[in-house]
Amino acid sequence: MIKAKKSLGQNFLIDQNILEKISNATIIKDKIVLEIGPGTGNLTSYILKKNPKKMVLIEKDSELSNQLNNNFNNKINIINDDILKIDETILFNEKVTVFGNLPYNISTEIISKWIINLQNSFWFECLVLMFQKEVANRIIAEFNTSDYGRLSILCNWKLNIKKICDIKPNAFSPKPKVDSSLLIFYPKKKFIKINDPKNLEKVTRIFFNQRRKMLKKPYNQLFNGNQSILKKLKIDLNLRPQNLNFETYYKLASEYEKLRS
Ligand code: SAH
Repeated sequence: MIKAKKSLGQNFLIDQNILEKISNATIIKDKIVLEIGPGTGNLTSYILKKNPKKMVLIEKDSELSNQLNNNFNNKINIINDDILKIDETILFNEKVTVFGNLPYNISTEIISKWIINLQNSFWFECLVLMFQKEVANRIIAEFNTSDYGRLSILCNWKLNIKKICDIKPNAFSPKPKVDSSLLIFYPKKKFIKINDPKNLEKVTRIFFNQRRKMLKKPYNQLFNGNQSILKKLKIDLNLRPQNLNFETYYKLASEYEKLRS
């Protein structure tokens, strides 16, 4: 028996109904599947039952990687590495379906990194990822709500997002202290062009820096009081950051980029 390592955020899924539900989140048959942070392989077994064309696992813990190799050997390809250090785009020459029940902080870091790194084409068909419930609610938040902010704006730029389910701590061993939610992300066919995503990050950082204050100050800081952009985007500076919809933020980032180029 391998002891769960707290430092690697190891909370293994043990609820069979939840494992079944996750493996039913999207079509697996004949797909190339990448599972990140497979742990003891609980979800791996469920995914394999659905007959993927090929399955690759990336697990940071070398002890668990060895164990997975022993248990599944010729059915899968195991990479003992840190998902944050891997260039996701060069692993495959076909689009992949990604599953991951990773430590919460890594899920958030990974989704941000993958969106920022996305080039003109998507390397995945969809992503099925686990988050802390509060973070998931921020990711799927709509404008005019208190959860709406930088994370929802970044994630919604190029992806359509749906919640599959909430998951209680007792579905895991050891039990985490918080509730979880499983989200699925699909590539958007159309999105507003921003050449450098860092500009979107900067615009949202400055706008949401003081989320209860009016838009006037951050707008002037970024756009030096430019009136034509305000008119074009129909922005009322007496509103608050959460009152501007997704599209307005993408357009603001694009205008900001134009001004600086
Ligand atoms: N998916 C499994 C395990 C969840 S625990 C299940 O649902 O049962 C999280 C797993 O992610 C652990 O196996 C941990 O070792 C692994 N992990 C943590 N950080 C990682 C990283 N940066 N890259 C790859 N795997 C990581």
